[in-house]
Amino acid sequence: MRSHLLNDTTAESYRRSVTEGVERVASKLAATRGPFTGVTPAELAPVIDAVDLDRPLGDASAALDELEDVYLRDAVYFHHPRYLGHLNCPVVIPAVLGEAVLSAVNSSLDTWDQSAGGTLIERKLIDWTTGRIGLGPAADGVFTSGGTQSNLQALLLAREEAKTDDLSKLRIFSSECSHFSVQKSATLLGLGRDAVVSVPVDGNKRMQSVVLAAELETCRAEGLVPMAIVATAGTTDFGSIDPLPEIAALAEEYGAWMHVDAAYGCGLLASRTRRHLLDGIERADSVTVDYHKSFFQPVSSSAVLVRDGATLRHATYHADYLNPRRTVAEQIPNQVDKSLQTTRRFDALKLWMTLRVMGADGVGELFDEVCDLAREGHALLAADPRYDVVVEPQLSTLVYRYVPEAATSPEEVDRANLHARKALFASGEAVVAGTKVDGRQYLKFTLLNPETTAADIAAVLDLIAGHAEQYLGENLVHA
Ligand SMILES: *Cc1c(COP(=O)(O)O)cnc(C)c1O
Repeated sequence: MRSHLLNDTTAESYRRSVTEGVERVASKLAATRGPFTGVTPAELAPVIDAVDLDRPLGDASAALDELEDVYLRDAVYFHHPRYLGHLNCPVVIPAVLGEAVLSAVNSSLDTWDQSAGGTLIERKLIDWTTGRIGLGPAADGVFTSGGTQSNLQALLLAREEAKTDDLSKLRIFSSECSHFSVQKSATLLGLGRDAVVSVPVDGNKRMQSVVLAAELETCRAEGLVPMAIVATAGTTDFGSIDPLPEIAALAEEYGAWMHVDAAYGCGLLASRTRRHLLDGIERADSVTVDYHKSFFQPVSSSAVLVRDGATLRHATYHADYLNPRRTVAEQIPNQVDKSLQTTRRFDALKLWMTLRVMGADGVGELFDEVCDLAREGHALLAADPRYDVVVEPQLSTLVYRYVPEAATSPEEVDRANLHARKALFASGEAVVAGTKVDGRQYLKFTLLNPETTAADIAAVLDLIAGHAEQYLGENLVHA
């Protein structure tokens, strides 16, 4: 069994095994004709059930053969130009290379004595990111597993900085389009049920700062504590960016922590043409970025950044076995002092390889391409009488709904759109997402693949219309 351990004597076996895996994936990518096969859980479950985990195959080739059946054949492929579903990106090769290196070396970023240079690389990337944001000389941060954890940590710091023992008095303000992890964090942080004040959005799905101002005033008048304002820079559904300068001014006026959730919009930090959309982000107390969304990085790669690095102490605990107090005086850089996690992946290496190979401009160019594509897609939708499109995109999402020519009840239109989404998924020809707008069923394209063309968008819109029409036709017959 020792032959399976990665070490000096097994280097050749490692090379062969990993190369074989890379070969399989490479052939798969080259041969993929659609983003999905349309397999159902009921079809796939027996295939996986049939595997006896207590009877190993003993050999990597055999396991890879089996993997074809249990995973690779039916996986959802984000690199395919007709994958238009969630906020998943195709990944850049330098980052995948970084992934291969980091898992083989297997550094753990909690302490210097488990990572050495990895710690400094992560710190340099944090500094690079805070520099791009403009958070100033005292800024710091740490890589996390994703935007959910970044938001949780940011709000933990905000809670501690609010300096009140009565958690029931704390309020968080975020737009009605903010990510659900804000609400989840509030619950995890022990805040009351009413802790999150949902601020309405304008016609472009951006937080109404006038209403925010009124809510803050009410909060103050009621003797409550405005703990944090969460501005979303790229809402998950619409890619809309809240008015950051206005929110920053209000945060200052009311002494609230300003958190910018740029999980999606962070790609703008690398854009040479759209960086201005994030103007005001430099006034934040904390920022969430998901490199695994708009920096084309493999999952997971995210960070939370703070204006004042000293606030990260609220996440600091010392353990005699790991990061004893003396290590602070000895200036040993232990990233665990800043993190909610202990053992932690060296995800930073993927971004490092990306910046060293392509540079930030290369990443920004890719993100600009999908934002341009979203504009083209919007023009297509706006000109198409079969569709109602919600807002002009600031980033790269389009929310729309098929509307039949003949008068039909809104509920029937909801069902037709939902049916179209499901039928498309089952066909495997394309993957789109869905969401609700004012209680009605809409469909969504999240465009993060620069290989997707306007022709792809047009073709998928035809497919959706076909499925929706078929549904409505059948239902008329049955009615
Ligand atoms: C995706 C997203 C999150 C959550 O990030 P994960 O990496 O999925 O945990 C938070 N906020 C926004 C705006 C997002 O789009």
